[in-house]
Amino acid sequence: MAAFSVLVHPYREVDPRMRSAARQLARLVPVPRSVRPRLLDLSECPHCASPYVQPTDGKALPDGRVSLTLRCPDCSAWMSGTFSAERVRELDRELSLGRAALRASYERAVRVNMARELHALAAGLARDLIGPDDFSRGPGAARTRPTSP
Ligand SMILES: [Zn+2]
Repeated sequence: MAAFSVLVHPYREVDPRMRSAARQLARLVPVPRSVRPRLLDLSECPHCASPYVQPTDGKALPDGRVSLTLRCPDCSAWMSGTFSAERVRELDRELSLGRAALRASYERAVRVNMARELHALAAGLARDLIGPDDFSRGPGAARTRPTSP
């Protein structure tokens, strides 16, 4: 009889000392970090977990908080809310780091492409494939080179 009632009402007939023991055990056994809820950064999208959420509009409020409109570029979700100045500063810092990483990547790509262009130009000059008329201006300027007799 007691086992049946425990199944129907699992907490009704439990000895209070057992509940206390369960609470003590829960305090001793740490909950894994993965199941603990954590406050998302403002740069993280709650819909698709993209780390690239960007503010599109913002307004400082008299109480020091900031009202922001945010957009996720990956899933196109729009969000708005009022956040502490500290969280908005953190978002600004992350955006600055992202801009710096993007700029470094762009400059690296430009250097690689310019080096390839330089090698192609040097190879063309070495084989006498490039003449002054290749650098003339205007439409059809490249076709002014006389054809071989
Ligand atoms: Zn998203």
